[in-house]
Amino acid sequence: MSIFYEIRIRAIDDHLALLMVRNTTLQKQQAIRLADNESRLRAIIEGTHVGTWEWNVQTGETRFNERWASIAGYRLEEVAPVSIATWIALVHPDDQARSAQALEKHFNGEAEYYDCICRMRHKDGHWVWVHDRGRLMSRTDEGLPLMMYGTHTDISAQKQTEAELKESRDQFASLVDNIPGVTYRCLNDADWTMIYMSSEIDRITGYPISDFLNNKVRTYASIIHDEDNLRNAELVNEAIAQNMPWHLRYRIRHISGEERWVYEQGRAIFNEQGQLQYLDGFVFDINDQVRAEQALLNSEKRWRSLFELSPVGIILNEYQSGKILAVNNAFMSFSGYRQDELVGRLYSDIAASGFDEVDRIIRTSLANTEHYGPLEADFAHARGNRYPVSVSGTLADDQDGKKLVWSIVEDITERKRVDRMKSEFVSTVSHELRTPLTSISASLAMVKNGVFGDIPEAANEMIAMAYDGSQHLTLLINDLLDMEKLSAGKMVMNLAPLNVRDILHTVLRDLQVYADQFNVRLVLHESDPHLLVMADRQRLVQVLNNILSNAAKFTREGTTVDVRTQVNGDGITLSVEDHGLGISDEFRDKIFTKFSQADSSDTRQRGGTGLGLAICKQLVELMHGEIGFTTVDGKGTTFFVTLPAAAADQSVPASGG
Ligand code: ADP
Repeated sequence: MSIFYEIRIRAIDDHLALLMVRNTTLQKQQAIRLADNESRLRAIIEGTHVGTWEWNVQTGETRFNERWASIAGYRLEEVAPVSIATWIALVHPDDQARSAQALEKHFNGEAEYYDCICRMRHKDGHWVWVHDRGRLMSRTDEGLPLMMYGTHTDISAQKQTEAELKESRDQFASLVDNIPGVTYRCLNDADWTMIYMSSEIDRITGYPISDFLNNKVRTYASIIHDEDNLRNAELVNEAIAQNMPWHLRYRIRHISGEERWVYEQGRAIFNEQGQLQYLDGFVFDINDQVRAEQALLNSEKRWRSLFELSPVGIILNEYQSGKILAVNNAFMSFSGYRQDELVGRLYSDIAASGFDEVDRIIRTSLANTEHYGPLEADFAHARGNRYPVSVSGTLADDQDGKKLVWSIVEDITERKRVDRMKSEFVSTVSHELRTPLTSISASLAMVKNGVFGDIPEAANEMIAMAYDGSQHLTLLINDLLDMEKLSAGKMVMNLAPLNVRDILHTVLRDLQVYADQFNVRLVLHESDPHLLVMADRQRLVQVLNNILSNAAKFTREGTTVDVRTQVNGDGITLSVEDHGLGISDEFRDKIFTKFSQADSSDTRQRGGTGLGLAICKQLVELMHGEIGFTTVDGKGTTFFVTLPAAAADQSVPASGG
């Protein structure tokens, strides 16, 4: 080998050696770059906090990174040795099928990725939400899935946020649905296109929410009354222009066809650029309230016309001050005053002197029962003369809770005049009748008693009837005259100390004859012989006669009427107990009023005028006493008369009447 050749060979060797060295360096550099890339990739993956997995689908061999295990609360070494079974053991049983389906779809090419959200059991026992994604990277020669790589992302926090969001949405919905009204958000267009409405709309309109949302079936504006729609639009536009809330009251047509009143309050919502986005607000059902207001208004109108047109005088005044607030036409016409002369003046200004006592009674009554009267009083006419009125009234509150009094005032001048005429007439007639009646009665009594000899049987009966009739008429006339005297205040009482037992004795003895016809015995029970009352003898006898004859009339045949006396504080009570049917509930309040008789044929058969007890009450009161009764249905009645006790030497007080 020539030296030249050798040199060349060496040169080639050197060159080759150099090439080899270069080649190795290149490979090394590539390997280093690859490793570098891989570790950078790994660092990125670790940095993203993502769990990774590699899975040989055919062998089941699996690799996880540390993060994969830590998502479930483990260190990787704790779950080693890992296989696909490690995952299967941790995934929620309910999510396994979904995961298998997603895998299937990916393997058969329906999905580009395997993608499944499922739960993994954490080491602590709770469930962790993971987003599991992966991709098949290779297949076997037969085309079977081979290597698959994927990631696990912990999305528990996101799930939690979602759950919280849902909860707060649900809360909002339930809150909105529970407030009494419809909350809405709509666009500012002619139809008020609804984007959102709460469920109360169903109740208010009868239509489901879905009808209105995006005007699907009907627009909200379409159920608003035409007249109100125009005005609403004006008010809303005005409010939007001033960026102020609007307040509307309008009518909507319910699905049933009924018109209902609603109240709406709303406001325009602008974005940051000042552009109008939505109209937000709520609608309330105020139908009942508006109907009540209308009813009130109507009734107020009716009351006002009643007030104006009433033929009786009406005065409205403040309770405390007595200041007159209103009077009606009728009052003005009989009082002689004009409205402006009365309003603002005091109630007492229109009353005549002596009204203080009436005023006191009115105030006591109003304080206790909120009503007063009817009472008789005298008012002063604008010309100054007095005139009699009957007043009654009731308390009321004004809007501010101030107490007012509504009084009905009736001018009774005419009634009084007619009453007087009637009384005079009755009195005259009674007086005129009494004298001839007395002689008729006396004559009949004589004929009846055979003073003029025997009379035929048939005539006898007629005479007896005529006599009874004349007796009844005498009674009536006497009662009428008494009543007349009492009403006119002309009944004079001669009060003196009277022995109760003596009087009772006499009255019972005289009345026994009358009681005999009913087979009734009048019994005076043991009575203190020294009891004295201050009374008018004739009038006390009259009262006792009346009560005792009633008792004899109404007690059951064959029973007794029991008379007792009893000391009662400063008074002495005389009681008359019968064993009749008692006094009915309805009649109890009327028994002391004139001409009242229980409406039973039985009463009619027993005669009487219906004036007796009314007279008794006034007589007893004139003797400064009291009269009353207790009664038990079907068992009987006890009348009481209580009179002031007197001492034997007591001087006679001023007589009543
Ligand atoms: P009269 O003259 O009709 O008896 P009164 O004023 O004395 O008039 O009585 C009025 C009415 O009261 C009687 O008609 C009767 O209906 C009823 N009355 C009075 N006393 C009694 C009684 N003791 N038992 C039942 N009813 C009575």
